[in-house]
Amino acid sequence: MLLTDELLLNYKRCRRRTYLDLYGNDREPDAAKEFLLKLKRESQAHVAAVLTARSLSYHQPQAAANDWLLNAKETQALMQQGVDCIYGGILTLSLADWRSSLIKDPRQDKTEIEATQSDNLLFLASPTLLIKQAGKSKWGDWLYVPVNIKLGRRPKQEYKFISAFHAQVLAAIQGVLPSKSQLILRQHDDYFVNLDHWLPKMQAIVANCLQMLATDTEPEVFISRQKCSLCHWYSHCYTKAKSEQHLSLIPGVTPKRYEYLTTIGIETVESLAATCPINLGEALGTQAAMELKQQALSLLDDRALLKYDYLGTAKTSIPIAAIELYFDIEAEPERNLDYLLGVLLVDRRERTERFYPLLAENPEDEGQIWQQFLTLVNSYPNAPIFHFSEYEIDTMKRLAQLYRTPKPQIKSLLSRCVDLHYSITRSVILPVESYSLKSLANWIGFQWRDRGASGDQCVCWYDRWINTKDRSFIEAILRYNEDDCRATFYLKEWLVQFLLEARMNEIV
Ligand code: SF4
Repeated sequence: MLLTDELLLNYKRCRRRTYLDLYGNDREPDAAKEFLLKLKRESQAHVAAVLTARSLSYHQPQAAANDWLLNAKETQALMQQGVDCIYGGILTLSLADWRSSLIKDPRQDKTEIEATQSDNLLFLASPTLLIKQAGKSKWGDWLYVPVNIKLGRRPKQEYKFISAFHAQVLAAIQGVLPSKSQLILRQHDDYFVNLDHWLPKMQAIVANCLQMLATDTEPEVFISRQKCSLCHWYSHCYTKAKSEQHLSLIPGVTPKRYEYLTTIGIETVESLAATCPINLGEALGTQAAMELKQQALSLLDDRALLKYDYLGTAKTSIPIAAIELYFDIEAEPERNLDYLLGVLLVDRRERTERFYPLLAENPEDEGQIWQQFLTLVNSYPNAPIFHFSEYEIDTMKRLAQLYRTPKPQIKSLLSRCVDLHYSITRSVILPVESYSLKSLANWIGFQWRDRGASGDQCVCWYDRWINTKDRSFIEAILRYNEDDCRATFYLKEWLVQFLLEARMNEIV
């Protein structure tokens, strides 16, 4: 069995994913998402840009990465020769050699070493670069340190974990632990991983992974929007979670809360709905307990519920005006660009709705659409601006700073903004699996015209527009953005009506 750094990284994110990647042959993964392929291309381009910017001359194994056995042999030969820099090399290590390197490491808990016994397992590490340094190794007065070039802006935990893994594998191969493990990040800045901190953490995670593989036990499904949305096992896992009515499909059930709920015997929506929140509150806190119970009740009855504390403490004022603006942005994170500022103008007196797609057909037009946006919203100074999530607020602040919008102007603009996500989550519990715009608007009956469209897909479409100038991509983005604005409008109308009825019931 080949245990690659990618599989280990996936294990850190989700144990089940590594299990399915290794043992899930009989199951069908989803096709690779265009968004992920785009990220992969960008990552490769970033590596090339860093190599060029630093004028690094390197040796590269002749064998391709998928011919990993030969590549690993060539990499070791280059290290033995003492070349200055190796790009695209592969390091392999048997489990026995991994274990002996840990035994020499005073940080390692020896009980974990015993737990990792498994035959025919080979570790495979592929650091972006191996850089020669002065020092003593089994080859002479030099050793190598791993360098990983990453697209992220910050040194994420997962980068540090993989850097520590590369350092450990390298230690076993060259006979000495490298003094550092380096990251080069998006802005081409250097970061040095604290190996004293990360080696023991990494070793413990690898030991757990080996244990899982040795026992061949399929980890339980746990759907989490953040970690599952880009995973190629999503359809498979979601179907399983649905068929089991898994508690992870209930908003607010985090892995930690799930662990607690199952230890006290709550494993179904019904049992959660029937539980006394006072008992749950001792472990989860009163607010979380009340919300979870209400969420379970809402799902069971398939109906919206007023939040238990809404009428008492958390009234949210939702303005109703003759003219209202509904605002949604499409962005391209790689270019740090907000290329579409979509505004739906709803005129209640005239009973009209008009969509304004302020589009930067070229990335350099961002400043221009920001000015158009200001002109539009300033033409209706009394109109509230509804949006869904904090992204629109953060973006307005970013654009105002970048394009030097006078402070009083942006202050007044921000004071007109109403975050509907905040309003909804403070006031209502809905029978949904997530409080995303799509999920909420679908529940009240709103449908997007293009069912497969998403924010991630728009990022890819914009990239394709830039490269091909095919207007069909722009048209698809505009349709999606307009539907987002309209969904926000529908949601607001629904919420106002719902809260009105709730107040009427309270008075009666
Ligand atoms: S879909 Fe989610 S639970 Fe399933 S393997 Fe992927 S990350 Fe894990």
